[in-house]
Amino acid sequence: MSVEELVKTLNKYAHLLGFPINLEWVRTVESVQQDIMGEVRRLAGNYGSLREFVESLDSQGLLEKAVAKAASTIGEDVGDYRESVKAALTGDLKVKGSKPALIALQAIARAYAEEASKKEPIVEPSAYCPTCGATSETMVKSGGKYLMICHFCTYTWITSEKHPTCPYCGNKDMLTIGVISDKQMRIALMKCWKCGAKWRAILDETIKAPPVLLPLIAMAAEKYTQILATIKKEFES
Ligand SMILES: [Zn+2]
Ligand SMILES: [Zn+2]
Repeated sequence: MSVEELVKTLNKYAHLLGFPINLEWVRTVESVQQDIMGEVRRLAGNYGSLREFVESLDSQGLLEKAVAKAASTIGEDVGDYRESVKAALTGDLKVKGSKPALIALQAIARAYAEEASKKEPIVEPSAYCPTCGATSETMVKSGGKYLMICHFCTYTWITSEKHPTCPYCGNKDMLTIGVISDKQMRIALMKCWKCGAKWRAILDETIKAPPVLLPLIAMAAEKYTQILATIKKEFES
């Protein structure tokens, strides 16, 4: 999907969110990420893990190039790109160059996940991305199945069919999985009363958007946090 189509799609669902989105920032990041993905995509299928892929790109000078590209796009300086990458991986975004490093790493992870998605889908009631290891908080219903989608690399895996399963503890008991939503059941906040985990879910299958946007659109579920707190009180009293 082109950058403009992606921004248009996001705009279409922005009203669900209840908070403003910086479309200009989304456009900038998406365009540089698509650029980087275009450069590394042809190599992405050759490695057994994302780590190996990143290491190989680094040895070919392509990681440094990707970070530099992201840096010039967002107008930020990078000192030692390896330090920036390290900071990005530990989430220390105060370090110089860590933001462009994060943008570059995400683009590389997305290219890797795209390749991984061509293989047999992974079925696993887990919240941890099998590709990059990030913890997903986003569930999507598709074709009657429940999938988790990674907010970082956009890899998607199946957690259950017919009924949602808690991706954090594997709880299948419908009576202890809370679904807090509006009447239309488009986007919901889900809660497992067994392990205490909560996550967001897009239940309306007519919501169609590129994978990179789904975790953002699912943020709309945050508006049910207040209701969840009320239920929790009643549940515990
Ligand atoms: Zn991932
Ligand atoms: Zn659970």
